This record gives sequence, C-alpha cells and structure tokens, in this order.
Amino acid sequence: MKKINETFVCVHCGYHVPLAARTCRNHCPRCFVSLHVDGKIPGDRASACDGWMYPVDYKLLNGDYKILFACASCGKQHRNKRAIDDEVTCLPDLIKEYRSRFLQQ
Ligand SMILES: [Zn+2]
Ligand SMILES: [Zn+2]
Repeated sequence: MKKINETFVCVHCGYHVPLAARTCRNHCPRCFVSLHVDGKIPGDRASACDGWMYPVDYKLLNGDYKILFACASCGKQHRNKRAIDDEVTCLPDLIKEYRSRFLQQ
C-alpha cells in the first residue's frame, strides 16, 4: 500500500490545496472537508465510499489538534491530526456550522 501526499482541489470550497509538510494530507486547510477514501489505516485509500467527511469535533492533545471527522454518506468517524498549515483558528466555527447541518439530517 502506498501513502499518497499530493495536491488536490477541494471538493467543498474549490481551494487548490498545496502539498502538506511532514504529513499525509487528506483534508482541506480552509474548510477541513475531505473525501472518505481511507479504510482502517489513515492514508491507505482503501475505502470505496467517497462521501464527504466533515470535522465534527476536536480536542487539543499535547498542543496538537486532533480533529474528529464524520462521513456524511456512511457515518464513519475517524480522528486525524491537523496539518501544519491548517487554519485552525476557523475550526471551532466551522465545526459548529457542520454539526448543525448534520443534526438536521
Ligand atoms: Zn475546502
Ligand atoms: Zn463514508
């Protein structure tokens, strides 16, 4: 299995996401939306779901953000570390917005 770290265009906000430093990026640094492409191991790209994953919660662990993502299609949740250039100052507000959308479903 190959770990992929590549540039991509965000499906949600259209931002051209640059390569992440040091990590295997899978979410957008602006809106934090990603596609559900990983299976059991982060970065394995083993899932065929392709649903949109939204951040729904986060916590600070040893000064690092651990973000909980939930898939809008299948409901799967997983945690991921922030990437170094993520705009985490926006994260609490984004989570609030995404959560209200989830709760309506
Ligand atoms: Zn985005
Ligand atoms: Zn899914």
